[in-house]
Amino acid sequence: MDITYIKRVIAKRKRKRYNNKEKEVDTMKELLSIVVPCYNEEEVIEKYYDATIPVLEGLNIKYEIIFVDDGSKDKTAKLMKQLADKNDHIKYIILSRNFGKEGAMYAGLCHAQGDYVGLMDVDLQDPPSLIPEMLNILQEEEYECVGTRRVTRKGEPKIRSFFARMFYRLINKMTKTEIVDGARDFRIMKRCMVDSILSMTEYNRFSKGIFSWVGYRTKWLEYENIERAAGETKWSFWKLFKYSLEGIIAFTTAPLAIASIMGILFCFGAFIGILIIVIRALVDSGSAVAGWPSLICIILLVGGIQLLTIGILGQYLSKTYLETKKRPIYLTREKNTKEYNKE
Ligand code: UDP
Ligand code: MG
Repeated sequence: MDITYIKRVIAKRKRKRYNNKEKEVDTMKELLSIVVPCYNEEEVIEKYYDATIPVLEGLNIKYEIIFVDDGSKDKTAKLMKQLADKNDHIKYIILSRNFGKEGAMYAGLCHAQGDYVGLMDVDLQDPPSLIPEMLNILQEEEYECVGTRRVTRKGEPKIRSFFARMFYRLINKMTKTEIVDGARDFRIMKRCMVDSILSMTEYNRFSKGIFSWVGYRTKWLEYENIERAAGETKWSFWKLFKYSLEGIIAFTTAPLAIASIMGILFCFGAFIGILIIVIRALVDSGSAVAGWPSLICIILLVGGIQLLTIGILGQYLSKTYLETKKRPIYLTREKNTKEYNKE
């Protein structure tokens, strides 16, 4: 065999081994950031820490946990700081007041330094044991995001599940952006997707819509609903109702179109009605006074529809009003980390 050929093969092998080694070193250079919004969670934050840290320690990349205190009134912020003193991987951001989960998540994403960024609830309804699998999929397969969805709503009040299902059906009919039923905010994304989400600086945030609107390839992992480890849900029925309205208004203008269509239909009905009245008056002039109860009904109905339509317009106008103010999505009181690519 040709000696130069053998030399070439050996050189190629060496190069390959070297490249592989580089790859190994590279993965250790990568960072996973996990953003965890917390609002009055003193009962679970330590449980979350104890459950998650062993999982993250077992990964083949570095990690940081970013706790965001969303204006808690209990000891949540103090506990976060204690955890940060104990472990360098723990970062915290304390917001100046309660901005809502959406604001808290955005704050966390702004500060996440990672090549991979995850979002998790602190109440252990999002099982940390899924993290290695999620990360592995992102590293090995052609996806930019691994999301999770609950396939059951076990442990949730029946009426709440019913309205949730109705909401998903309604919003998916009205908008082109697909909102997956049962999708949780628990997900890990690659940097490119996080940057895209951060570029959407709208004030009225509906993350489930934003995640879907930015696109990218998402793989869904399914799991059974898990009940809260401790404490109580922060979402009352009324809060959820307002949130779902926000979702519809943020992602579709279909209600405006429906209002216009109703207007056209009623104009058409009125035109036919006028025609009938005129013809009847010409044929039989004596019966003009009769029928006022039906008239009142029609006036009430049309009046009601008009108010509804103005209400829909008002909803969009109020959201536009808030957007034009360009208020910050969150304000920070204290933190031990910096914004990504800034400061
Ligand atoms: N959360 C928050 N700000 C709020 C409400 C909730 O940061 O105003 C956090 C909360 O601490 C938790 C997550 O959002 O980590 C989900 O909240 P919760 O478990 O109450 O919601 P559910 O699981 O019932 O939908
Ligand atoms: Mg929860």
